[in-house]
Amino acid sequence: MALSKLDSLYKAVVTDHTKSPHHRGLLPEQPPHTLHNPTCGDVLSLSLELVDDRIVALGWDGDGCSISLASASMMAACLVGKGVSDALDMAELFSQMVQGASDPRQKELGDAQFLAGVSKFPQRIKCATLAWKALEAALADQADH
Ligand code: ZN
Repeated sequence: MALSKLDSLYKAVVTDHTKSPHHRGLLPEQPPHTLHNPTCGDVLSLSLELVDDRIVALGWDGDGCSISLASASMMAACLVGKGVSDALDMAELFSQMVQGASDPRQKELGDAQFLAGVSKFPQRIKCATLAWKALEAALADQADH
């Protein structure tokens, strides 16, 4: 695929998630985990519900740039129903991807794989990974209980 075509696909997917975000809105019964990305001003809160080490529900809300919000939407769409260890693997896969690594398993990230292009814009990497960092914080907290 030509780079310009990939680029416009990336923009279309980001726009789609920004306009119609998946799983936006925190879960009322679960404590939210809020993270900030001071370099861009993004704020993202995430709450999730686990049953038998599986993510049965996940909700998020935030205020920030389109990359941070689209990334949260893409992440939520791909993680609901996943086991905790799979979710953590995906967080690692995503983190490596936006730093430029290529891995065939990136297809499992669903729409989130289209954020691979962020690796060309180092100042946006923290925007893209904010939701995934909030996920890791939420899962670490649940593991303590
Ligand atoms: Zn941002």
